[in-house]
Amino acid sequence: MVQKNLIDGEWIAGSEAFRNINPSDTNDVVGEYARASADDARAAIAAAKAAFPAWSRSGILERHAILRKTADEILARKDELGRLLSREEGKTLAEGIGETVRAGQIFDFFAGECLRLAGEVLPSARPNIGVEITREPVGVVGIITPWNFPIAIPAWKIAPALCYGNTVVFKPAELVPGSSWAIVDILHRAGLPKGVLNLVMGKGSVVGQAMLDSPDVHAITFTGSTGTGKRVALASVEHNRKYQLEMGGKNPFVVLDDADLGVAVEAAVNSAFFSTGQRCTASSRLIVTEGIHDRFVAAMGERMKGLTIDDALKAGTQIGPVVDQSQLNQDTDYIAIGKQEGAKLAFGGELLKRDTPGFYLQPALFTEATNAMRISREEIFGPVASVIRVRDYDEALAVANDTPFGLSSGIATTSLKHATHFKRNAEAGMVMVNLPTAGVDFHVPFGGRKGSSHGSREQGRYAAEFYTTVKTAYTLA
Ligand code: ADP
Repeated sequence: MVQKNLIDGEWIAGSEAFRNINPSDTNDVVGEYARASADDARAAIAAAKAAFPAWSRSGILERHAILRKTADEILARKDELGRLLSREEGKTLAEGIGETVRAGQIFDFFAGECLRLAGEVLPSARPNIGVEITREPVGVVGIITPWNFPIAIPAWKIAPALCYGNTVVFKPAELVPGSSWAIVDILHRAGLPKGVLNLVMGKGSVVGQAMLDSPDVHAITFTGSTGTGKRVALASVEHNRKYQLEMGGKNPFVVLDDADLGVAVEAAVNSAFFSTGQRCTASSRLIVTEGIHDRFVAAMGERMKGLTIDDALKAGTQIGPVVDQSQLNQDTDYIAIGKQEGAKLAFGGELLKRDTPGFYLQPALFTEATNAMRISREEIFGPVASVIRVRDYDEALAVANDTPFGLSSGIATTSLKHATHFKRNAEAGMVMVNLPTAGVDFHVPFGGRKGSSHGSREQGRYAAEFYTTVKTAYTLA
């Protein structure tokens, strides 16, 4: 059965379908999904535009009930949805279920936020006049998501968009339509009026581009590559629309001489290799001071030898496959580039054979890398990390900040002085002390600086900045 797109409250088949393939076993077809056309995208935008006046004035209890019901169903079905996620994306079952729970928590959080919409009432600078500051929805929000968090990223964009009274056209990544289809189905059955949320699965260059080109899309929130992010930005400037971008990272993880070695190694292995390194918050630059360098590298090697890389759904798997052939090619190309540049491939980097045909790659660790090498400057988006040796904390901080990106930045240290200084001086949106660079909460702001992000933060109460526009009303008493 082909899973369809949702346009104006109807499930629409479209003329073509595409297959969702399991990266742990390429013989396993997860499902077939309708491929939307540019016309479908335009119909979805028109439906969202028509639904906006009523939804933007809908009662907070109606919105609360729908978001709450969605949260409850996602959480009740966490094992099944987590399994679907791991099957289509390749992260381990524990990670898939964890991400699904997070999506449920996000809907639950924004169900609560509907009940806490607030403004300000101030006296005017002039006598006998009152001033009210309120937040109103922006209009039709275009949501474009990547493949690496198939349920959490759609959740953290759809939930606040609906909570604050916007209508939505949602285009998930083509590689992982299953989780997106499932949450749209849940929201639809939870009672969303027709046209409020529209799903258009299909090609970025067709469906995504139709969204960018439409004057009726009033805001676009995008997570994906730097190149596509730039297209979103340019098209949005053209239409004078609001836009928010989450793009790449080249996140540093600093290890100082005074670090607890066990804590540092656990955090580094998690940062660099969990979720197969396919997280924008993953760390691929391990910046290590001289006094602990050799012990750290040896301990990393030991820890990496013990990692189980296998089918995402198998019990005991710690690292699943790479998402597809083209991402695997990118990873192995960068491993070759690292060697050519003179870094030493200390561990891993080999393609692995397992029981089923899949994109299995042993996590790779380079040593003797410099921060000028391409493997230290460009986002690889796979289980590939390099160790950069530095003299001391000051050099570590300078190297950590010497990057075009600025999403997450980590440090392992037992020094309060260095931890405090790093929190203040790391040029990143998120800083982690004795914790992996990846792994964030659902109720606090998420986002970066420099080349990683543009616009206001996502998640938590800060999401209101993007999904609402402020109105200032003056009344003569
Ligand atoms: P990734 O490397 O994560 O696939 P992309 O930026 O290519 O990064 O994809 C992120 C999202 O952007 C996907 O949903 C993709 O389909 C979409 N996309 C790709 N090209 C365009 C485009 N020209 N316009 C709008 N969206 C696009």
